Amino acid sequence: MKSSQPVIRLGLVGLGKIATDQHVPVLAASPDFDLVAVASRNATLEGAANYATLDDLLAAPEKPEAIALCQPPQVRFAAALAALEAGLHVFLEKPPGATLAEVALLHDAARANGVTLFASWHSRYAPGVEPARRWLEGRQIRSVAIAWKEDVRHWHPGQDWIWQPGGMGVFDPGINALSIATHLLPPFFLTEAILSVPSNRQAPIAADLVFRDRRNTPITVTLDWLQTGPQTWDIQVETDAGTLLLSKGGSQLGIDGEPQPLPPEAEYRGLYDRFAQLIRSGTCDVDLRPLIHVADAFLRGERRRVAAFED
Ligand code: NAP
Repeated sequence: MKSSQPVIRLGLVGLGKIATDQHVPVLAASPDFDLVAVASRNATLEGAANYATLDDLLAAPEKPEAIALCQPPQVRFAAALAALEAGLHVFLEKPPGATLAEVALLHDAARANGVTLFASWHSRYAPGVEPARRWLEGRQIRSVAIAWKEDVRHWHPGQDWIWQPGGMGVFDPGINALSIATHLLPPFFLTEAILSVPSNRQAPIAADLVFRDRRNTPITVTLDWLQTGPQTWDIQVETDAGTLLLSKGGSQLGIDGEPQPLPPEAEYRGLYDRFAQLIRSGTCDVDLRPLIHVADAFLRGERRRVAAFED
């Protein structure tokens, strides 16, 4: 059912894996958005006006009011700036950019043009995250252990950009863990990092990170892209009043081993509800904290060369 508010006409750039898996089906059911246009060099969508480039889309007489940018982070800045300067509201897939400064510049451009910029973090909308945040309120956190271990060959077959500078390697999924952690925990900062970089690649395939907060609470993060078999996306928080385990990327929650009832998965529905709310209230949501921690790992981390990686 469409919303009682005017529906927002939206374009999408980069019709690849995440656009096809999540954006397109979620938009088809969205009460707030109509997906009216797509700009993609090698793909088209039935039912939308199709363009090869964003410039062509922006030059069309019936421009959309908003755009979702689903290309790899290294090429998103120019598209985002062009869209903001054309007066469109912009949804950035995660991570919001390849550098911190470019995203800050986009935030300024959004404010200057009176439009919304939304730096999305889909994992924050996993069903266990809000209940976990509420449970942690008022409890004393003793330690946090995050393990994000998955099989890159399964999840990113043939995606060369993730291994290039700005692609972030294992931090492409790892930043999802950091997006949840920055939402759940008091502010923390990196003290140590080891980045394991394959001899034939630019970006890490594994990383071990140690963070602390102002109370010296240890927060460890293990990222690994070579895990076959069952995949691990876990955040375990030890508190003065029990242990919280957020697992399967935030879709399951256990308290002292007891599974908690949760609503069904609706991460991208949550993102588009939020984008509509931001547009209608004339505000931006640009939280850089997950990207700051990744940048700090690249700034502060020790590099270890490891075996070459072949797809
Ligand atoms: P992808 O399928 O490799 O790329 C998306 C599309 O971007 C491609 O189909 C391509 O469309 C366009 N593109 C690729 N390289 C480009 C380049 N150099 N210049 C211009 N356009 C280019 O990537 P993805 O997995 O969907 O990921 C895209 C973003 O979403 C990433 O930031 C990722 O972290 C995030 N994300 C991914 C997932 C996931 O499960 N894959 C989940 C959540 C978020 P055309 O060739 O047709 O132009």
